Amino acid sequence: MTMIAQRLMAVREQIAQACVRASRDTDRVQLLAVSKTFGADAVQAAFDAGQRAFGENYIQEAVEKIGLLAHLRAQGLQWHCIGPIQSNKSRLVAEHFDWAHTVDRLKIAERLSAQRPPGMPALQVCIQVNVDDGANKSGVAPAEAAALVRAVAALKGLCVRGLMSLPEPSRDYAGQLDVHRRTRNLFDQIGAQRWPELSQWDTVSMGMSQDLDAAVAAGSTMVRVGTAVFGQRLVNP
Ligand SMILES: *Cc1c(COP(=O)(O)O)cnc(C)c1O
Repeated sequence: MTMIAQRLMAVREQIAQACVRASRDTDRVQLLAVSKTFGADAVQAAFDAGQRAFGENYIQEAVEKIGLLAHLRAQGLQWHCIGPIQSNKSRLVAEHFDWAHTVDRLKIAERLSAQRPPGMPALQVCIQVNVDDGANKSGVAPAEAAALVRAVAALKGLCVRGLMSLPEPSRDYAGQLDVHRRTRNLFDQIGAQRWPELSQWDTVSMGMSQDLDAAVAAGSTMVRVGTAVFGQRLVNP
């Protein structure tokens, strides 16, 4: 078994344990393997170990890997953009990714909608929320999230699935739990509006290698795990 296959097994087991502790169904928490800075060979190894959903931060780097592994797409390989989307990169995201987790402005959503090729399925979108109010941070303010969700839901070529958060790293479990619960509550409040245009409101993208347990306890449905799957990142592209 490859190192990546072993680490994947360990992360899946960690998610399963966290679900047991939280009395949640394991199959309600998806693992997104964050492959940024790692090569197509690492993605291939994870794919061979059964992993299908991969997260990338750097658009240019991702587009290269997506091209190299194009043949795996028909077998279920999925690409999720989890990095900041500048206006001048939105076309690459619209043309190459299955999901975008980091939509935090209507202008970017409108560009993604206009640039999504008509032959492709809708781009699955999460709205990024600045849940812990970090200065200079991406993400819409929590108070403005619902309005943005509704506006994005009206755009063709996109399907709004839920919220994403990227809180400041903290080693304190109670603090992690508190901030993740705020994201989950906001997600539930928006869902409770029962807007007809939100037909697939089912995703809370939160939790990484360091705060996975707290995120699952707070109700994450998609954890984004890099280091624990692929190892320490040594380079920044
Ligand atoms: C890098 C990254 C991750 C994964 O982080 P790890 O700590 O390596 O698990 C998750 N989400 C986002 C947005 C990231 O940039």
